Amino acid sequence: MDLSERPAPVKPLDDSERQLSAIFDQAQVGLSLFTLEGRFLRVNGELCRMLGRTREELLELRFQDVTHPDDLAHSLEAIGRLLETGKPESVDKRYLRADGTVVWANSSITRLENGPGLGYSVLAVTVDLTERKHVQDALAESEARFRVLAEASSALIWQLDPHGNGVYFNPRHQVLLGRPVEALLGAGWTEVLHPDEREEGVRSLMTAIAQREIVQLRVRVIFANGDWRWMEAHAAPWFTADGEYAGHVGIGLDIDEAVRAQEELLISNERLKLAIEGSGDGIWDWDLESNRMVYSKRAREILCLSGDEPVDPVAAMKQLVHPDDLSALNAAVNACIKGSAFTMEYRVRCPDAGWRWVMARGTVVARKAHNNMPERMTGTITDIAEKRRSEEIVWEHANFDLLTGLPNRRLFRDRLDHEIKKSQRTGQPLALLFIDLDRFKEANDLLGHTIGDQVLIEAAQRICACVRQSDTVARLGGDEFTVILTELDGGSHVETVAQKINDTLSRPFYLGNEVVYLSASIGITLSPYDAADAENLIRNADQAMYVVKSEGRNHFSYFTPSMQRDAKERLRLISDLRIALGADQLRVHYQPIIDLRDGRVVKAEALLRWQHPHLGMIEPERFISFAEEAGLISEIGDWVFLQAARWAGRWGARLGSPFPISVNKSPVEFVARLNEVNWPAHLTQMGLTGNSVSVEITEGLLLDASPGVSAKLLQYHDAGIKVAIDDFGTGYSSIAYLKKFEVDYLKIDQSFVRDLAASAGDRAIVRSIIAMAHELGLEVIAEGIETREQREFLAEGQCDFGQGFLFSKAVPANEFERLLCGNVSTA
Ligand code: C2E
Ligand code: MG
Ligand code: MG
Repeated sequence: MDLSERPAPVKPLDDSERQLSAIFDQAQVGLSLFTLEGRFLRVNGELCRMLGRTREELLELRFQDVTHPDDLAHSLEAIGRLLETGKPESVDKRYLRADGTVVWANSSITRLENGPGLGYSVLAVTVDLTERKHVQDALAESEARFRVLAEASSALIWQLDPHGNGVYFNPRHQVLLGRPVEALLGAGWTEVLHPDEREEGVRSLMTAIAQREIVQLRVRVIFANGDWRWMEAHAAPWFTADGEYAGHVGIGLDIDEAVRAQEELLISNERLKLAIEGSGDGIWDWDLESNRMVYSKRAREILCLSGDEPVDPVAAMKQLVHPDDLSALNAAVNACIKGSAFTMEYRVRCPDAGWRWVMARGTVVARKAHNNMPERMTGTITDIAEKRRSEEIVWEHANFDLLTGLPNRRLFRDRLDHEIKKSQRTGQPLALLFIDLDRFKEANDLLGHTIGDQVLIEAAQRICACVRQSDTVARLGGDEFTVILTELDGGSHVETVAQKINDTLSRPFYLGNEVVYLSASIGITLSPYDAADAENLIRNADQAMYVVKSEGRNHFSYFTPSMQRDAKERLRLISDLRIALGADQLRVHYQPIIDLRDGRVVKAEALLRWQHPHLGMIEPERFISFAEEAGLISEIGDWVFLQAARWAGRWGARLGSPFPISVNKSPVEFVARLNEVNWPAHLTQMGLTGNSVSVEITEGLLLDASPGVSAKLLQYHDAGIKVAIDDFGTGYSSIAYLKKFEVDYLKIDQSFVRDLAASAGDRAIVRSIIAMAHELGLEVIAEGIETREQREFLAEGQCDFGQGFLFSKAVPANEFERLLCGNVSTA
């Protein structure tokens, strides 16, 4: 059709047309009438507003002028179709506004006949679509954006229709589930769920629809090959404008690794728990936020807790833990809260078992990120009752004397140090007593160790009964005890206690069929007067005790400075003695032994002297015990023997028959040692017979006879060396021993001889010793004969030999030789 055709002239308006014109102008849609060439004949206000032009401007233009060039062709085509068919057309197109901007609009065009034969004009109803178009564009853009996101997402994203059929599945489904997306579309959504989770899945979704909210599910989805993975699904139902359920969209996150890791953790936690419980330990877990403590079954057993409810640990601690352990436990827990793991041993109250020792270990396992405060502590609890008991036993063994149950030397030292400090603090003096049982060794040797042990146990009890509870009685070893008396006000209390101990220990000990008589030597020292430290106090008490012993036993003595001097001298003598032998300071003197029948000198006793460079001649009584103490006696004894053997050989040769010299031998000398002189072998080597020398021993040696002593005595006996018991009558004289060891002589102790004249008792003892000895085939030597009366009494009493100042004191060898030549000692 030809649009350049001129339009028919417009008829003047009648009334109805005027009415129509008003409607035309006021319509809320754009209205225009234009010629087939496109020239606007009429436009209304809305179109003017839409196109941003005045009515006058528009009426000067054609619709082609305001149409976007890109949309012109299809606009013209639509007009062409309209003219041809007469059917209205609808065109979506862009208009250009005066300012150049674009207006999206829809124009419905209708053909209007200008009048019969007058041709047509076109009426366009134009609706502004700009707004709608914007919305559509935005929608399309957002859809595109979400689609890109969905396609690229590593999460599963899907959409279902209201019947539960798949509408959209993002490509991730294919990767994760191993099924093509097409296979999922149209399928029921529950099919991808693990059979165990389908029911729950449907139920949750129904709830979500009913409550119009997003549902969150943890489900397993199944792969094409039957494997499954854990997913966390969030499904949001959606609804139409009128509230109809329209299906839902969902997103699924693959949490398989996390779930499996958590399961692993649970399993390993469970395993750990089993392992800990298997070891007998209990486990606790403390949530500090809620202050709730959860105990394992074993932990409850250990702590004697019933039920399985969580416990308030702070309250429980106060109720359960021993009051003495509470503050230490609190401190340990607080230190743990600050950062260090804790281990703590404490006691808990058990209804049936009293206090039970447990060990708790713990550590903080979770802290708050913002302030590092602990949230959770966990740990173990161990029943250490058994361990504690054995530790206590070990402690007791280390600190107590097993026999008497008294503190031993070690604990005594601890207590003494402690008491000294206390005494310094309070100003109250303390006393230290050293107690040594007199003659215990003899009783022990004679009656056996079982009786000896019983004596010690009873002695310990008797000593304890003399002191207060707060004082300490300890056993240092052997027959040595010590007492610490504290909080003294005056000295008299110390003496009372010492006297009580002396008295109680002097009472007979009745043990089965045996009666044992003992006494005690007690040394006492006071702190702070004598010394203010443990070392010196112990030394003082020991010295005081030593003095009591040497002065005849069974009393007590305070430490005095002179004792200290004596002790110092003793130490000096011991050190001097060490060089005495090498420095040729020792001498052997010889005292004759007389045949009481005819007064001839028939033997001699070798007696040791020490020519001290400063102190002059020292008697053996003063230094033999030091030589024993210092371990020098054996060497000295051998030296005396060598001297004696030499002179015995010489004098025997001179007399034409053996001249026996007796040598004193301490028990200590019977202990075998390297480099000792073999006496019989030496005599043989010198060409002497065994009876050139005899040995003087004490009774105690026989009582204590070890296999070594027996062997040596047997060796002497076999070699013909005679054995004499020295100082007979002063110790535990045992006839059985005399026989057993084949003793040859008894030497009656000088204490019996001294009082012969005055004491009928001593006379009786001496007579019976002689009779008994002869009965056993032994000969008797009386010591210490100083008077004719003594000599006569003994001679009449059939005593075989005598020795004493009446005949001669011990003299140097050359002097003795002169005496021997005369061989007349007394008339
Ligand atoms: P002992 O074996 O009983 O010796 C006798 C002691 O009595 C000697 O004292 C002697 O001098 C002394 N004595 C002798 N006759 C009389 C007397 O009529 N009146 C008095 N009051 N005393 C008399 P000594 O020499 O001082 O020896 C003392 C003790 O020392 C000895 O007692 C002996 O046990 C020991 N002893 C001496 N020399 C040695 C030795 O070489 N080795 C050992 N292990 N001990 C020795
Ligand atoms: Mg002797
Ligand atoms: Mg003697």
